[in-house]
Amino acid sequence: MDTLGRVSPTAKDAAVSMPADLLAHARAAKGFMPADEGAFLHRVALAHLGAGPALEIGSYCGKSALYLGAAARARRSTLFTVDHHRGSEENQAGWEHHDPTLVDEASGLMDTLPTFRRTIAAAGLEDVVVAVVGGSTTVARHWRTPVALLFVDGGHAEVHAQNDYTGFAHWVQPGGVLVIHDVFERPEDGGQAPYHVWLRAVESGAFVPDETVGSMRVLVRVGEPDQAVQASSTDPASSR
Ligand code: SAH
Ligand code: MG
Repeated sequence: MDTLGRVSPTAKDAAVSMPADLLAHARAAKGFMPADEGAFLHRVALAHLGAGPALEIGSYCGKSALYLGAAARARRSTLFTVDHHRGSEENQAGWEHHDPTLVDEASGLMDTLPTFRRTIAAAGLEDVVVAVVGGSTTVARHWRTPVALLFVDGGHAEVHAQNDYTGFAHWVQPGGVLVIHDVFERPEDGGQAPYHVWLRAVESGAFVPDETVGSMRVLVRVGEPDQAVQASSTDPASSR
């Protein structure tokens, strides 16, 4: 335990290692991250950040960004988080995960950016969490930074999930981790795209499965620094 009363990053229960104020903000934030998976994400980030920054695909309202951002702060690192802030298919009006309070009255479109900003600001993490506002394939085309942790939690349609892997997985540095959320092996438990991405990562030989908590799966990047992940050479179709 350190002087602030936090236990080591390897402790199984990361909730106690996350400062209480940040944990309260994370638990209260709007989003799709169960407390145990959030605590796990925080612990994995604590163990890896510092060697490089963290990159999240799918910011939504900043809930998972608080679990990652708290670790980035502790490690004097930075979280970049990518989202066009227009919502996924399932967030649109008439769909299962639509939240009418997130519609911009002026445009009639989903806009999670104001809520995201408030979430990060209220937690005091604006110096640690950097919002990248844009489509994942557009950002990927210009991204040039190796990362210690990549968290894939963007669009869950097959094309988007695959594009996120194609666009960013090769930026995970050796020894770094790819974390995929909402991985369900059985169709009756949930959409299959994140599971297909997990299979692709394993089959590439560039990633080896590590820990899993709930639907969150961690894979460790293996290989030499100059070993590109196969899919990186293809320019993904630009689509939302
Ligand atoms: N990580 C968040 C939840 C993310 S929800 C949490 O745990 O709280 C998925 C997000 O992915 C949505 O906000 C949606 O706008 C975004 N998204 C979907 N497709 C995208 C794409 N092609 N480019 C950028 N963002 C996308
Ligand atoms: Mg998710």
